[in-house]
Amino acid sequence: MTSPRAAGAPSAEVDLHMHSSASDGALPPPEVVAAAHAAGLQAIALTDHDTMDGLADAISAAHSVGMRVVRGVELSAHDGSEEIHLLALHVSDPAPLELRLSAFRDARKIRAAQIVEKLNRIGIVISMEEVLVESAGGAVGRPHVARAMIKTGKVRDSREAFDRYLGEGKPGFVAKERLEIREAIEITHAAGALAIWAHPGPEGRRARLEPLVAMGLDGIEVKHPSHNQEDVLRLLALADFFHLLYSGGSDWHGAPTGVRKIGGMHVPSSWLDRQDEAVSKRKAAPIA
Ligand code: AMP
Ligand code: ZN
Ligand code: FE
Ligand code: FE
Repeated sequence: MTSPRAAGAPSAEVDLHMHSSASDGALPPPEVVAAAHAAGLQAIALTDHDTMDGLADAISAAHSVGMRVVRGVELSAHDGSEEIHLLALHVSDPAPLELRLSAFRDARKIRAAQIVEKLNRIGIVISMEEVLVESAGGAVGRPHVARAMIKTGKVRDSREAFDRYLGEGKPGFVAKERLEIREAIEITHAAGALAIWAHPGPEGRRARLEPLVAMGLDGIEVKHPSHNQEDVLRLLALADFFHLLYSGGSDWHGAPTGVRKIGGMHVPSSWLDRQDEAVSKRKAAPIA
């Protein structure tokens, strides 16, 4: 297959942040891989929210086209009063993570039912069954509620669903159960993975980063669709200052159009090479 990348393109690119239907992405894992292949990517990380259930299918699809899938998962955690997302990348022993994640997925189901109840109380009548059809056995979240609302004609699109009902402070909002960031980093390491601060954005500053580095943070997501040029430059400098790894990805959820385009962050494969080196070093000298 020919790649759409220009002939003679300088180096291979990767995309280390994306979602499949195992969480709130639109496409099943093999179709995510097919899209990545069509985009000319050498490797992707599948980083579904709170689940690694999509990995096996993604990896076997990738093998058949000679691509690599990095085993990942995106965790939501508390950092003091702030919410923080952590990417666990290069999972080698899923058991310690899996144990915590299955508890979170159960909590997500309870939360979805609470959201449905709140919506029903204000006259937006949708059922839990309609929501579960959208999540199709995966980790259920607000995007699935939004899709059920769209299908049943309660809102036009997901923006309206979040702006009017599901966003923080709106009448259908229910907070999600989350890990403490320290524990999130610990279980990430227990799983043999690198702990990467996902999309730090304007929050990615020295004062916020310093305690995370002390907890063992391994890297930061420098390239992300929510980052402007100033964010990228500051995060690169901070990563260098704290000797952290770079990561980057599109946070693609399967939309055919829009700012989150697969491969759109143009992450060089050398960033992945550095991560691989860090993982093998850690294996050679396991941390206490
Ligand atoms: P949850 O994990 O259930 O709280 O859902 C979080 C997901 O909802 C995010 O990963 C986004 O995909 C999506 N999301 C959050 N805020 C918005 C918004 N304002 N508009 C559309 N999607 C959103
Ligand atoms: Zn998502
Ligand atoms: Fe995130
Ligand atoms: Fe994400």
